[in-house]
Parts: sequence; C-alpha cells; structure tokens
Amino acid sequence: MDEILDVSLEMRDYIVSAGAESLSTCMQCGLCTNLCPWRLVHGEVSESFNIRKMQRQAQLGLDGFDEEEVLFACVTCGMCQVNCPREVKIIDNVRAMRSTTAEAGFIPKILKPVVSSVRSNGNPWMGAQDKRAEWQEGLDIPAFTEDSEYLLYVCCNSCYDPRGKKIAKSVVTLLQKAGVNFGVLTAEEKCCGESIRKLGDEELFQKLAASNISLFNGKGVKKIITTSPHCLETFKKEYPEFGGEFEVIHYSELLSNLMKEGKLSFNAELAKRVTFHDPCYLGRHNQVFDSPRELLQAVPGIELVEMERNKMQSLCCAGGGARVWAEVAVGERFSELRITDAVDKKADILVTACPYCVTMLVDACAGMEKGDVLKVMEMSELLSAAL
Ligand code: SF4
Ligand code: SF4
Repeated sequence: MDEILDVSLEMRDYIVSAGAESLSTCMQCGLCTNLCPWRLVHGEVSESFNIRKMQRQAQLGLDGFDEEEVLFACVTCGMCQVNCPREVKIIDNVRAMRSTTAEAGFIPKILKPVVSSVRSNGNPWMGAQDKRAEWQEGLDIPAFTEDSEYLLYVCCNSCYDPRGKKIAKSVVTLLQKAGVNFGVLTAEEKCCGESIRKLGDEELFQKLAASNISLFNGKGVKKIITTSPHCLETFKKEYPEFGGEFEVIHYSELLSNLMKEGKLSFNAELAKRVTFHDPCYLGRHNQVFDSPRELLQAVPGIELVEMERNKMQSLCCAGGGARVWAEVAVGERFSELRITDAVDKKADILVTACPYCVTMLVDACAGMEKGDVLKVMEMSELLSAAL
C-alpha cells in the first residue's frame, strides 16, 4: 500500500514566510544535489544530505527535513544555486528551514556556545567586547572620523583568533603602504551576523545589523573595507534591507585597484609555486576572481598555478553556513580534498583570502601531515611579506 504522507501546509507557509519565497519554483530536477560538494565525500552526513529532497520536504511541510545533521550540513557555498535552472534561492530556503528550529533554540549542540557568545559578547569567538581591539597593539591606526575615506571593518575571527590577528595586521600594513585614508571603530563594532543569519537566528542577526548600522550611520561611514568575504556579503547585500547603504569592498579588490594606479608595488622576490583557493563568498557569491590573482602575479618570482576546480567551480573549504564550528568526521572534510588539489599541482603555498578558509585549510593541512610540502597563507600575509 502507498505510504500516506503527513503534509503540513502550515509548516510550508511558515517556511515560505521565513524567507523561502522561491521554494515553490523548484521543479525537483536534482541538479543541485549532483553539484553539491557533499557528493564528493563519503560518510554518514553525505549519505543523508540531499538538497533536492530537503526542498521537496519543505514544499510539502513534511516532518523529517529538520533532522539536525541534514538541516545544518549545508555550507552555503552557492554551487547549487548559481547552476539552478529555475534560479531558486536555495541558500535562503535552507536558512528559512533552519529558522523553524533555530529561533526556538533547537540548534546543534556545538553551535549553542557560538550563539550564546554572540548574544553576550557581540562575537562568536567567546571574546570579551573590551578585547575586540587588542589586535591593534603595536600598530598606529587612527580612529574613524568624518575625514576618513574608508572604515576598515575587521572580521571577529581576526579580532580574537591568534592567526586571524596576523591577517588583520597584514591588511593594515598593506593599506598604509598604499596610502589609503582609513580609520577603525573596532572597539564599538559587533559581529556582522553572517553566520548567525545562515544558521537561522534571524532575530539575533537583525539586532546585530541594527547595532552596526546605527554605529556606522552615526559616525558618517560611507565606504567600508572588509577583511573577510563573509562581512563583504553581509554589508553589501543584506544590510541595505535594514537601512545600511554603504559602498563595500574586500581588501583584495581595493589593493588591486591601487596597484594599477601605481600606489602599491611588491619588491621582495618570492620564488615559489603558488595556487589560489577562491573563497566562496569572494568568488562565486561576489564574482571577485581577478583581483587576488593580479596581486599574486605582481610579486616577483611567484609562479601562479591553477587548481582544476577554480573560480566559479571552486571547491568550498566547508567553513561557511556556520560550519566553521562543526565537528566533521574524517573522510567528509572538503578542506582535505582542497589540500590534495593543491598538492597535486605541486604548489609550495596555498593562498586564500578569507579567515574561515585559512582556519579550515590550516587544520586540514596539519591533519593530513602535509605541512612539509605545502604552506597555507592568507593573501595579505604573503603580500605584506613581499613589500
Ligand atoms: S537545481 Fe533548482 S530546480 Fe533543480 S532541484 Fe535543485 S533547486 Fe530545484
Ligand atoms: S549551498 Fe553548497 S553545500 Fe549547500 S546545498 Fe548548495 S551546493 Fe550543497
């Protein structure tokens, strides 16, 4: 006898109202599932994660799509979305499905301290607000005033994580070298809220957005430089909905422009074979592909080689969608595939331009014991060493 499905139109309507407006346009072709990086790995999560099926279940408001390992496995890499023939906003759909549980406090155990830290400290890295600007010690960085052209917004990871702090310092070195007129408001800022929105806590995201927008508007900010592609995405595409209209640029794009104007050059030779890992939120989501490559090619001695999966086809590191905090079983880590891609190209250095990618790739490289043949660097670290 055919199974009778327990369809819930109320649940479907709730998901749609939480942001899944394009859910009904999905025609169930399955292309998204085929392109998803979860198909490249093998294990328990990859067996259960099927984005086509998940959206079908949501269309019908069925029980079952909200199993924790399924619902929170999407890394929001966008590979499915940019190829969907119906232009379904798959990531918004995932976010809306997550919000059915996240707003009631039902999120994976590993994410609970992250959300608590954002609520109490304004950042997901368990750092105190009064320590947010500690990364600036030893640097002479002016506070943002109405005379500053740009606000430099430093990602929470780079405010608190020891490796991340080096990235923030390197970006400052490069901006100062190129003569950029910028200032900071680090001590008063909160997390941009990107991961919080992706994990489905819309209310908390909107609080963070309101706080930052009020701060930026109050100080007269017009242009923002971000160190992270995740902050770029949020400020550029999501804050306008809440009254935050800023001109936002990732540091790589700004530096590339300045280099072309003759305001930045690299003089120290670095005779290394280098490959670039496109962060999803810089590349696929924001179409910044050339700037990082132009900068790397301008360093004397560098031989830039491409991995097979690059630009629009770049493989996600798996740090997006709040997955940077997830515990992932050996065999299911996309970052390990990425290390293999770089090693196969005989690269000496795997460069990326995102603090989450650095975290994921450094861990994978160490876990695979490939540190003797491959070094992972954030682009600003490499470029500041080449000045
Ligand atoms: S590719 Fe688009 S239309 Fe096809 S199943 Fe996925 S979301 Fe639906
Ligand atoms: S955004 Fe990436 S991880 Fe999420 S379903 Fe699409 S392809 Fe898979």
